[in-house]
This record gives sequence, structure tokens and C-alpha cells, in this order.
Amino acid sequence: MTDIIIIGAGTAGLSAAIYGVRSGRSVMIFEGNAPGGQIINTPAVENYPGIKNISGFDFAQGLLEQAMELGAELKYEEVKGLQQDGKTWLVQTAKEEYPARSVILAVGAKNRALGLPHEEEWIGAGVSYCATCDGAFYRDKDVAVVGGGNTALEDAAFLTNYCNKVYLIHRRNEFRGEAKLADRLREKENVEFVLNATIEELLGEDRLAGVAVKDKETGERREIPLQGLFVAVGQVPANHPFEGFIELDNGGYAKAAEDGKTSRPGLFIAGDCRTKAVRQLTTAASDGANAALSAAAYLSEGE
Ligand SMILES: Cc1cc2nc3c(=O)[nH]c(=O)nc-3n(C[C@H](O)[C@H](O)[C@H](O)COP(=O)(O)OP(=O)(O)OC[C@H]3O[C@@H](n4cnc5c(N)ncnc54)[C@H](O)[C@@H]3O)c2cc1C
Repeated sequence: MTDIIIIGAGTAGLSAAIYGVRSGRSVMIFEGNAPGGQIINTPAVENYPGIKNISGFDFAQGLLEQAMELGAELKYEEVKGLQQDGKTWLVQTAKEEYPARSVILAVGAKNRALGLPHEEEWIGAGVSYCATCDGAFYRDKDVAVVGGGNTALEDAAFLTNYCNKVYLIHRRNEFRGEAKLADRLREKENVEFVLNATIEELLGEDRLAGVAVKDKETGERREIPLQGLFVAVGQVPANHPFEGFIELDNGGYAKAAEDGKTSRPGLFIAGDCRTKAVRQLTTAASDGANAALSAAAYLSEGE
């Protein structure tokens, strides 16, 4: 019986493992893909306090080594579901069922992609899903944001501080995001709205050099030269296998406060899969620490 099983070896899960082990608890982490989570393909992280510049891979590797050296155990198995038997949680993979006294869900989220050729290949070579993370690399460049929600509007506003020109491409004439955010953008001189338009093609040889957009009414094609494209068409949290045990908000994120507690004793949430305003490495690490300490306190109460 493991004290704390953590599902997901991203920043939240590995941070939870560090705090869990250091609370004197046995910790097992399950990872269905590569340990490290979303950050591993990012060439540079420059906004994690105390670390000026590090590749996403090195950042994740450092966290993983720290958790392993402290004594956490890593299983390379995707978790398919959860069950409860009294106070015992059963974590189910394709191979086995693992019993635990508490569980932390740290399954993260994936950015929704446009699904265009080269999109995945050019992540870090002109394509980004995170303006807060990568915006500074596009200082004085021409970039576009695609999307129509608050994230797209906020990303565009953020990028106007760095970039020469920001195109905001949206498939409708109206934004889903708040009107006041759109109004503020209209006042900026370096923003051009490309509305009622969809991106048909990413242009370039070995990195992004522009996009081809199609006007949905006229069918007209326009090529826009760009150095960066920020995709902000939503995220998909990986909470699906655990839906029966957690309350989800409209976006599919698991509802839990900052302490990670859910309405189920012994089940905790950490990281990007949780309902919250800011999804970054710092907040994922903070969630991991909070959830692990909540789990340790829950275990102590039952002893
Ligand atoms: C391209 C890009 C660049 C970014 N750059 C920055 C940056 O510079 N600075 C910054 O602060 N933030 C950045 N972010 C955001 C940051 O990466 C996330 O906020 C952070 O990774 C969230 O950590 P997490 O542990 O909650 O989730 P994730 O990193 O998504 O990790 C979740 C892990 O759980 C695993 N998992 C999911 N489901 C299961 C399952 N059923 N069974 C087993 N394992 C499972 C996944 O494979 C994954 O490894 C960036 C994000 C992206 C996409």
C-alpha cells in the first residue's frame, strides 16, 4: 500500500513527489508519456524565479532527478481509471491495480492544436502555445495570435508590448472573450484584426515564415508574413478518465481550491488540470507542494 500515488509526472506531479517524500511518505508516480510534461519540448524557460534561463527538458530532468533521489518511485504506465474500496484508492493501469491511501491527480492539460501540417514540427521554430512564456523571444517581430477567447485577447495585448505588429486572427466576427479586452486592443496602433478568417496553411521552409488565411465570406486567400504564431484556441485537460470522482467546471478542469482538496477525502488535484486563473510552471509547482502537504496532513489525521 503506497501512501501517496501521483498521476502525472509533470511539474505539478514531480513537485508533489518532492514534498510527499520529504513529509516521510511513500510516493509512487505514474506517467503515461515522457516524464516532465508539457514543458519538455520548450527550448527556453526564462520566467521561473531563481533560474535565469534553462531548456524545458533540463528543467524537467532536474525535477525528475530530485524526486527520484529523494526516494519517489516512477512507473511508466498510463492510468486508465480509479476505484475506491473503503478508504483505499485503487489506481488502474492496463497492467495492474495499485492500492494507495491517497491520490494526487496531476494530469495536466494539452493545448488544442489547429491541426495543420508543420504545426507540431515548428513548435519552438515560430509556433507557440504560450505568449507569456515565449513572447519575449519575438521582440520587434511580426506575430499573429489565433483564437477568440480571453486567452487570445490577453495574449495579443501582452505581445503588443514586445512585437512590431500583432495580427489577431479569429474565425468569427465577434470575440468570445470580454468586450473590454477587445476594445483595449482596438486602441493599440500595432494590432490588426483579421476576422471571419481561418488559417489554411503555415508557410515556411524549415520554420514558420507566415500564414495563409482564408476569408470565410469571400473565400479570398491572403498570405501574411510572420515570425511567430501564437495558437490560443483552448486547452484540453486530461481529466477524462477520472470524471466519476471529481467535479469538473465547464472547461473540463477539476474543481479544487489552492490546497488541492476535493470533495472526496484522500483525493487531491494539482497543476494545469485544476480550475485556476494562471497555468504556469510556478503555479504547477505551488499546486504540487500544496496537494502533497494536504495529502500528508490527511494521512496523519487517519493515523
Ligand atoms: C510550448 C509550451 C511552453 C511553455 N512555456 C512555459 C514557460 O516558459 N514558463 C512557464 O512557466 N510555463 C510554460 N508553459 C506552461 C507549463 O508547461 C505548464 O503550466 C506546466 O507544464 C503544467 O504542469 P502540470 O504538471 O500541471 O501538467 P503537465 O506538464 O501537462 O504534466 C502532466 C503529465 O501527466 C501525464 N498524464 C496525463 N494523463 C495521464 C494518465 N492518465 N496517466 C499517467 N500520466 C498521465 C502527462 O503525460 C504529463 O506528463 C508552457 C507550456 C507549453 C505547452
